[in-house]
Amino acid sequence: MFKMQSGSKNQIVKLSKNSWILILLFVSLLIFFSLMLLLKKKPEYLSKVDIALGTTLKVVVSSEKDPRLIIDAVLREFHRIEKKFSLNEQNSDISIINRSKQPVEVDEETAFVIERALTLARATDGAFDPALGNLISLWGFDRINQTDFNPRVPTDSEIEAALSRCGYENVSIEKGIVTMSNDVKLDLGAIVKGYAIDRAIAIAREMDPLATGYVDAGRDIGIIGAKFKGEYWSIAVQDPRGDSGDYLDVVYLKKGSIVTSGDYERFFIIDGVRYHHILNPKTGYPVRKTISTTIISPDAMDADALSTAAFVLGSEFSSVLMPVLGGQGLFVDEQLKTTQTQGWSFFKEKR
Ligand code: ADP
Ligand code: MG
Repeated sequence: MFKMQSGSKNQIVKLSKNSWILILLFVSLLIFFSLMLLLKKKPEYLSKVDIALGTTLKVVVSSEKDPRLIIDAVLREFHRIEKKFSLNEQNSDISIINRSKQPVEVDEETAFVIERALTLARATDGAFDPALGNLISLWGFDRINQTDFNPRVPTDSEIEAALSRCGYENVSIEKGIVTMSNDVKLDLGAIVKGYAIDRAIAIAREMDPLATGYVDAGRDIGIIGAKFKGEYWSIAVQDPRGDSGDYLDVVYLKKGSIVTSGDYERFFIIDGVRYHHILNPKTGYPVRKTISTTIISPDAMDADALSTAAFVLGSEFSSVLMPVLGGQGLFVDEQLKTTQTQGWSFFKEKR
């Protein structure tokens, strides 16, 4: 009994010595790594600004590979998509489809964008309608950025005539063949920017899966990766009637996209009345009951089409429909009243 006790006493003393050494080692390692962490610079962000798809484009990237190469590839992708889907380029896929009297065979990418546009048109009961080309060009919103643009308000009968040659129900696509009837014309202006943002993110991640940053195409934002690899990006929702820099709300995102449609982006004023670029496909006139809509969604393409649809539908419908279609939203009506979907508050906290 006694022997056993003394034996265990010896053992305790021996263990303590080892423990001290271990503790000392542990503390020095802790100090070493804390110092390393303190000294280690946070990743730097490189950014570049350009003009594409009728808006200012800002690409912000941090990567241990060459961020410049990633930014340039992203900008190239934006210009490629702009060319392919533009209404002003004679040889764009959209111009070719719009000119043709016959069904047109398109590549996989164009088919994908048109198919998604038609799906979202059906899901929003045509509030988002990619076949409003004749109405949009009657108002001139397809040419509004051109220097010789001369705004005028069309007559009711002109609007009626244009509306009779509009509507996504006149467009079908099967096995990559687009068929259009009733002389309708495509205008993908409310979805292509979102598609370009999704492609930009995909390209950045292909070049470096660990790249972080974001793409901002005129307040339509897609996240490439969380800030400094783990933190949230704070994103302010612009006050549609405030000065630039005034905001309504702030949300926090590490991924996904946030897209805003506003009546202040492209418009002209005649006799004190503002005529803006988001048209109600039922009336043919610019929507009056909404002045701004913002949608958060995993894909920028969906967020883009949904923000336009929500603009047309108004806050009452949109706060119910948008979450069903995968979007959370903040809507501002013409009295400046804001409404948000239930899930919007999820993004107001850093979780
Ligand atoms: P922005 O391009 O300013 O971000 P939107 O995404 O809402 O705004 O797209 C508006 C553009 O979409 C218009 O310039 C026009 O080309 C087209 N458009 C206008 N009204 C509709 C609509 N109801 N459905 C689909 N496209 C529309
Ligand atoms: Mg849109």
